[in-house]
Amino acid sequence: MKKLIIANWKMQLVYSASLDLAKKLTKKIKNDKYTVVICPDYLSLPLVASLLKSSPLQLGAQDSAVTNYGAYTGEVSPVNLKALGVKYVIIGHSERREHLHENAAIINAKIKTALTNKLIPVLCVGEKLIEKENGDAKKFLSQELRLALRGVKIKSAGDLVIAYEPLWAIGTGHSIIPLEANIINAFIRAQAAKILHKSVRVIYGGSVAAENSAEFLRQKNVDGLLVGGASLKVEEFSSICSQ
Ligand code: PEP
Repeated sequence: MKKLIIANWKMQLVYSASLDLAKKLTKKIKNDKYTVVICPDYLSLPLVASLLKSSPLQLGAQDSAVTNYGAYTGEVSPVNLKALGVKYVIIGHSERREHLHENAAIINAKIKTALTNKLIPVLCVGEKLIEKENGDAKKFLSQELRLALRGVKIKSAGDLVIAYEPLWAIGTGHSIIPLEANIINAFIRAQAAKILHKSVRVIYGGSVAAENSAEFLRQKNVDGLLVGGASLKVEEFSSICSQ
């Protein structure tokens, strides 16, 4: 499987800027060395979907609802995401856990519903600085994985991706040392394999930039990158995707 590079645009762009960025990226990123996935905000998804159609770039969403249909005001159904051509859905991003109070049960339900729609969940896990400093990172990650993946069944290793995103590295400019990401990613893969009985891809996210991306991508256990801030800059993100 190719390494995966996922752009998470979050809620950083107005509609016209999303379209402009998508157009520019389709012109710049022509190689297919990596699987590159663009995750715009929901409102921009349909038009970005049509812009990406004739390019190697794939479409992702930043979230997906717990269920297919129902009285869930404001939510977006994975059925509609699938119909639009979405392949990957980020689930359990730390910003949703923090600002929108998403708990383990919600994340677990979202993963299961995404899978029934043949979407590939990108489950985000990561420890806080305090857990790292106390030497509790691995214990915390095991617990997060156990709760998020409880009862989850996948048919093949490509059906689910885990993004290791230490919270202290997201948007701070302080990424983890690539060798350390290699070790933790291997740990996460092993823990997930105990639950899923498959060796899924584990990517890294947290202050990835053009100057450190190659070193991360060189690591055996880093199957790709989840990129926030740097994915909003055409030149920088294109450079990350051509390392
Ligand atoms: C993220 O939000 O998933 C992320 C990795 O952000 P950044 O690259 O800006 O740290």
